[in-house]
Amino acid sequence: MEATTPSSTRWAPISKDVAALRVRPNLVDYDGARASFTWDEARRGLTGLPGGGVNIAYEAVGRHASGPLADREALRFVRADGTVRSLTYARLAREAARFAGVLAGLGVDRGERVYSLLGRRPELYAAVLGTLQYGAVFCPLFSAFGPEPVRQRLQIGSGAVLVTTRALYRKKVAPIRDEVPALRHVLLVDADGSPEPGTLDLAALLEGAPDDAPTAATGPEDWALLHFTSGTTGKPKGAMHVHDAVTAHFATGRFALDLHPDDVYWCTADPGWVTGTSYGIIAPLVHGVTAIVDEEEMDADRWYRILAEQRVTVWYTAPTALRMLMKAGAERAAVHDLSALRFVASVGEPLNPEVVVWGREAFGLPVHDNWWQTETGGIMISNYPAMEIRPGSMGRPLPGIEAAVLLRDGTGAPVIRDGEAVVCEPDATGELALRPGWPSMFRGYLDEEERYRKCFAGGWYLTGDLARRDADGYFWFVGRGDDVIKSSGHLIGPFEVESCLMEHDAVAEVAVIGVPDAVAGEVVKAFVELKPSQEASDALRLELIGFARKRLGPAVAPRMLDFASALPKTRSGKILRRLLKARELGLPEGDTSTLEAGR
Ligand code: AMP
Repeated sequence: MEATTPSSTRWAPISKDVAALRVRPNLVDYDGARASFTWDEARRGLTGLPGGGVNIAYEAVGRHASGPLADREALRFVRADGTVRSLTYARLAREAARFAGVLAGLGVDRGERVYSLLGRRPELYAAVLGTLQYGAVFCPLFSAFGPEPVRQRLQIGSGAVLVTTRALYRKKVAPIRDEVPALRHVLLVDADGSPEPGTLDLAALLEGAPDDAPTAATGPEDWALLHFTSGTTGKPKGAMHVHDAVTAHFATGRFALDLHPDDVYWCTADPGWVTGTSYGIIAPLVHGVTAIVDEEEMDADRWYRILAEQRVTVWYTAPTALRMLMKAGAERAAVHDLSALRFVASVGEPLNPEVVVWGREAFGLPVHDNWWQTETGGIMISNYPAMEIRPGSMGRPLPGIEAAVLLRDGTGAPVIRDGEAVVCEPDATGELALRPGWPSMFRGYLDEEERYRKCFAGGWYLTGDLARRDADGYFWFVGRGDDVIKSSGHLIGPFEVESCLMEHDAVAEVAVIGVPDAVAGEVVKAFVELKPSQEASDALRLELIGFARKRLGPAVAPRMLDFASALPKTRSGKILRRLLKARELGLPEGDTSTLEAGR
């Protein structure tokens, strides 16, 4: 089945003049870097443990604590009122070591799971790094989760320790405490001398702990992190990552985020999601840069102020946030001095070409899309500072990463010949796949061996996403396998239709699904959130449908269009198309544990 011609090919490529860039990119010769790259060579950029082995916390802070970076700001927290508090590398290393000392004092075993349910505050970062230093496994939970997702995730991972606040404990953990018997210790960061019954005062424990706890002699394949991804239905999957993942965080921080020693870097993702851990904590610290942490939630003016006042140079954010900024208007950016900013990247959802280009208006820089998922542990496909951007494309695979688009049979499974999956011709749509073997690849879904096994076929890891690869090796996202629409023999990617509607002035956000149709199999339905200045009307509905028909043709354009005040999204900001579809068809909503409140 052929995909339709994407609207995104209408956008002119954005060329790059390397000589005009303020900082020479780490990756200038893409083909040369790909040809010479090896993961062993990348490992040489790290230090490794003195006695052999590798430990993420040692690479991130331990090795910097007594070197030239000791007094450099590692983390700079921006409070609600805009004031900051900072931790140097030496201080962060000490705090982490203390936390490791607390785990030792509590008799936690190496490999046991330590969870957090915390906002973005210093204790969270010390807990992540201290746990890794100690050789236990860290699992960050998003602090806005309710009791049910907390229970589910603690149970799946048999969490032994949980670090949280008094309020979060009372509201979300106490009600389910009886159902998580493996949870031996709950540490409150704000107990203030009087912990709740059944909890401990973390500050008191830290005070009594040594600040020179040893680093566990972890090996590259030792389990380090547990990240939950939400399946399309059913219970969340726990993706297991190992200490060698730090090699990929280092290499991708270098190539895809272009981190340089003097950077002030801001990743807006919460550590409750894999992006917030891999790129909000590990990658920047491994590179010895200063990482900004906003303790508050997204707000357009606040974000522009942070970019300006903190002199952020490299910014890693998400399409949903960029679309919100767009909705607020580029003029909101204009009053801020964003002159320090030199590189903007985005991940998590397809990035509409409209947004890539809008970046130039608001920041003076295009937005660089990159693609990865919880399972891959790190960025796999990316747009680089020195490489032409084709708006709407995710870019090209990182050095060390082999990506392909695999041919699918009628059931959607990859076509296998002589044990090898068949790769599509350029521009054809198929399943996006990666050749296994990169260091941050997940090593399993916890206790779900069969589910893990099914992710591999014909020599490839199957991502579950559909994509196209053009003749020059740029990858174009079509849709999640589950979200793709089949209409009258066409395979329609929701992203193309959404990106087209985004080009209309009235539209702030849009999600597209397929609804059953007796003749076409499925037809396209769009849900549109309008800009604040716009009002929903039948005339506007017809105008939008007409707008899409003109650009996409009648076979691909939406036949139906509803206005929505807010689209359902995960708490990490991804539009939940499957939920729109379930609601549209009156079907069970499946796992909604990651759904944003009120959606
Ligand atoms: P998660 O389960 O949270 O790890 O989400 C990973 C999924 O988000 C991917 O499999 C894609 O479907 C989507 N995704 C992430 N980055 C991008 C991107 N740059 N373009 C399109 N989809 C993306």
